[in-house]
Amino acid sequence: MRLFVAAELPGEMLEALAETSAALREAVRGRYVAPDSFHVTLAFLGEVEGSRVPAACDALRESCAGYGPIDASLRELGCFGRARAATLWQGVNAAGLSALAQDVRRSLRAAGFALDEKAFLAHVTLMRAARLEGRELPMPCLACGTIDTVTLFRSDLSGDRPRYDALERLLLG
Ligand code: ATP
Ligand code: MG
Repeated sequence: MRLFVAAELPGEMLEALAETSAALREAVRGRYVAPDSFHVTLAFLGEVEGSRVPAACDALRESCAGYGPIDASLRELGCFGRARAATLWQGVNAAGLSALAQDVRRSLRAAGFALDEKAFLAHVTLMRAARLEGRELPMPCLACGTIDTVTLFRSDLSGDRPRYDALERLLLG
């Protein structure tokens, strides 16, 4: 199964992200992420045997143990990739999240999971395969809130849109 670890976001941030996403829909064509799927990926495990899920949960529990709720705020839009097929995202400002991501990754690696070496950049993906091509992007909607949930998700890409199922939810603090 395909697994990743993500921070879930509080309602006030989700609402602002949904507003940014709606404004993007007016401006750019591409594949939109459904608002009920918004998240900040902390670690991507990729394909893993189902029997390894308990080990992933243990590593996650261990790495989150020292953390309380994390103050966060939304920031500007950014993109990865090519102008014809970009990934568009809204940045997240949260110093504590970066520390948490490092700890989560360290403990998953120690448990034997292979993670890529890409540096952590806190963001929420709003759109994929976006045709930017010189289009002006809208001003993002901003908000702040407290992140208190870190979740191990299973990702199922077999349908017409990605489906994420929470396998384990950890509360910070
Ligand atoms: P799709 O791949 O159909 O566009 P998706 O990217 O939402 O859908 P997944 O590919 O399963 O679904 O990814 C789940 C989460 O992990 C997303 O937040 C995605 O950005 C992130 N992710 C995927 N691949 C990697 C990777 N190689 N490194 C880091 N994060 C990744
Ligand atoms: Mg993907």
